[in-house]
Amino acid sequence: MQPRSGIALVAHDSCKQDMVDWARFNRRTLSAHRLYATGTTGGRLIDEVGLSVTRLRSGPHGGDQQIGSRIAEGDVDLLIFFWDPLTAQPHEPDVRALLRLAVLSNIPVACNRATADFVISSPLLTGRDPWTPELVPA
Ligand code: PGA
Repeated sequence: MQPRSGIALVAHDSCKQDMVDWARFNRRTLSAHRLYATGTTGGRLIDEVGLSVTRLRSGPHGGDQQIGSRIAEGDVDLLIFFWDPLTAQPHEPDVRALLRLAVLSNIPVACNRATADFVISSPLLTGRDPWTPELVPA
C-alpha cells in the first residue's frame, strides 16, 4: 500500500448509518487517503462526516461497476463494503462482480465493522512493513 492509498467505501441502505458512524470515528485516518464512494454513501460521508470523497454513481445505477473499474485500474487499494446479508439487491450481479474483482486484484476487503477496524488500524495501510527491524522491540 501507499502512504496515501485509494479507499473505496460502499454501504447498502440498511448499513449506511453504520458506515457513517465508522467513518466518523476514523475520520482523521480516512482523510489522509484518496476516497471513492458510491453515490448515496458518498453523499452521506460528505454531508455528515465532512470527508472529501470522489462520489460516483449510485450503486444500483452503475456505481459498484465504477468502483470495480477503479480497482482494475489500480486506483483503489482497499474496499470497505458494508453489504446487507439479509436483503436481496436488484444489482446483485454488480455486487458479485465488485467483490470478485477485489479478490482477483488481491486488495483487502472489509464487509463489516469488525474487519474494517482491523484493516484501518493496520500499519500496512500506510505502506509500513510491520516486520521491519525498527518496529520489532529490542
Ligand atoms: P449507494 O450504493 O451508496 O448509491 O446507495 C450502494 C450500493 O447499493 O451498492
